[in-house]
Amino acid sequence: MQYETREHDVLVIGAGGAGLRAAIEASAAGVKVGLICKSLLGKAHTVMAEGGMAAAMANVDDRDSWRVHFADTMRGGGYLNNWRMAELHAKEAPDRVRELEAWGALFDRTKDGRILQRNFGGHRYPRLAHVGDRTGLEMIRTLQDHGIHLGLDVFMETTVTTLLQDDGRVVGCVGYDRQRGYVIVFKARAVVIATGGIGRAFKITSNSWEYTGDGQSLAYQAGADLMDMEFVQFHPTGMVWPPSVRGILVTEGVRGEGGILKNKEGRRFMFDDIPDLYKNQVATDPEEGWRYTQGDKNARRPPELLTRDHVARCINREVKAGRGSPHGGVFLDIAWIKEKLPNAEEHIKKKLPSMYHQFIKLAGVDITKEPMEIGPTTHYMMGGVRVDGDTQMSSVPGLFAAGEAAAGLHGANRLGGNSLSDLLVFGKRAGEYAAKWAKDNSAGRIDESKVDGAIKDMLAPFDREAGENPYTIQHELQDFMQKLVGIVRQESELVEAVGLIEKLKERAPKVSVAGNREYNAGWHTALDLSSLLTVAEAITRSAIERKESRGAQFREDYPKKDAAYGTFNYVTSKGPDGQMQIRKETIRELPAELAQVIKENE
Ligand SMILES: Cc1cc2nc3c(=O)[nH]c(=O)nc-3n(C[C@H](O)[C@H](O)[C@H](O)COP(=O)(O)OP(=O)(O)OC[C@H]3O[C@@H](n4cnc5c(N)ncnc54)[C@H](O)[C@@H]3O)c2cc1C
Repeated sequence: MQYETREHDVLVIGAGGAGLRAAIEASAAGVKVGLICKSLLGKAHTVMAEGGMAAAMANVDDRDSWRVHFADTMRGGGYLNNWRMAELHAKEAPDRVRELEAWGALFDRTKDGRILQRNFGGHRYPRLAHVGDRTGLEMIRTLQDHGIHLGLDVFMETTVTTLLQDDGRVVGCVGYDRQRGYVIVFKARAVVIATGGIGRAFKITSNSWEYTGDGQSLAYQAGADLMDMEFVQFHPTGMVWPPSVRGILVTEGVRGEGGILKNKEGRRFMFDDIPDLYKNQVATDPEEGWRYTQGDKNARRPPELLTRDHVARCINREVKAGRGSPHGGVFLDIAWIKEKLPNAEEHIKKKLPSMYHQFIKLAGVDITKEPMEIGPTTHYMMGGVRVDGDTQMSSVPGLFAAGEAAAGLHGANRLGGNSLSDLLVFGKRAGEYAAKWAKDNSAGRIDESKVDGAIKDMLAPFDREAGENPYTIQHELQDFMQKLVGIVRQESELVEAVGLIEKLKERAPKVSVAGNREYNAGWHTALDLSSLLTVAEAITRSAIERKESRGAQFREDYPKKDAAYGTFNYVTSKGPDGQMQIRKETIRELPAELAQVIKENE
């Protein structure tokens, strides 16, 4: 079969923050680097990030340190985090942010000219370095500008469908050019997966079309372990109206700037339910909460800035109890701050320019004057490829993973802002160790029969006549994942979802597409199905196993946290019979020094 061939030392799949940072690091180590992305360079999902990147630089509150950041991340993650990753992240994030600044990122500033940091849910002190509410755009712009001068080979609008292996080790991949439809075989000594999340497995999501879980699925099919797949984060604040924009994110920055949540009765319901773990960190009344958002070091956070899992569930509760807004959400109000600030309108527009623009343009709502209608939206995947904390190598030799596609740092629940810093810290590490691996290992052998098989699978939807439309399967999957594996879960519904996934797994290989290979969206969707189904199955099967509520997983039938489930992660892998297997992996004991850090921050 006909195809083009490309050869690199390190191949990075994904050009978001993690992929770009990995490519920069590998290239700086002197190896030849290829960078592949499904969309155009600069369009990766990272560009949508709004609120900021978390790093304990202590520019706004000098009580902050890596120790507090580490403890916050572990508490937020329900202590299932890979503690080594949480430690490295907390220690290295400030340097990575300063490095980004040195490469040209223009952050918002404190009065004395340092990088400004804002409050975000679950972070004890103002910690998010930001650029208004367009932080991801600045991050991508800076990394691209920097990376492009290092001579990376960039393959835009190229989708990878299969990893190639030689005696277990990953030695390249097969992909296709989305515009023209031709096949490319990439040879590489090391491959970094930086393909982002899985949001498109659900109906309501803040995620872009690229988020179909390809990286997790590629790794799984190659024999790598996935971990923590039950933990899908539902962000509490997505747009709910009009229907065409349902799910689009409303940044946590709105609450960080003083935004409050109310039900249709006008009640600020977040004060009704404060989890024990956070009782001594939350304001006793609205006045204290407001002072916190304005930088008063003696005040504690308002309950709107509790972790995302908790806030999302409180909103869900209000809606279910019939106290929601007209379109099935609740109200998020930032306009109220005019009672506190004389220049509130200008202040909101300056601090939250994209939110102002988004609501005026898409919903006809002026957020400086009226509340927004919001509700939970599928947002972030804590689970992903299981990696070594220091090197980011997966359980398959030569295969690395970083960013949202990897698991470990966030445990059962990610704190807002910890993703962008994750991309920088572990993107760098993945690039560094992938380059080292490439230098230490010879090029592997490419098995032509595997290449032929991958191409045959890729083109099969064209060969079938009168098969099902791939969109039907995609929509059915999204629909029932939302209903049965969403924010509140229970055994019977999860089991039902597994049954439905099994049926779709039989139907998906029979879909057909019409037309030719040039920019054929139906064909692209047909090829995404296998990834979507793999991650949907891993999420659902892991959710069944975890018979407790912790972090992002809320089980109605097991509503309490169970200490017995706090000592291991669920790991997903492909068994010898080709079936998905879920097993427990005990979490390594926390070193005494880190245990002490957690204790002192309780
Ligand atoms: C609206 C929104 C706002 C957010 N705000 C924040 C925030 O303020 N702070 C924060 O910390 N986090 C935030 N997040 C989360 C954060 O943006 C993401 O977790 C992060 O950007 C993921 O980066 P990444 O590099 O892992 O992947 P991405 O940026 O998604 O990049 C994935 C790349 O992989 C490519 N790709 C995927 N599949 C394939 C394939 N099969 N073949 C080839 N290429 C492929 C894609 O084309 C893309 O280039 C936000 C998320 C959303 C949706």
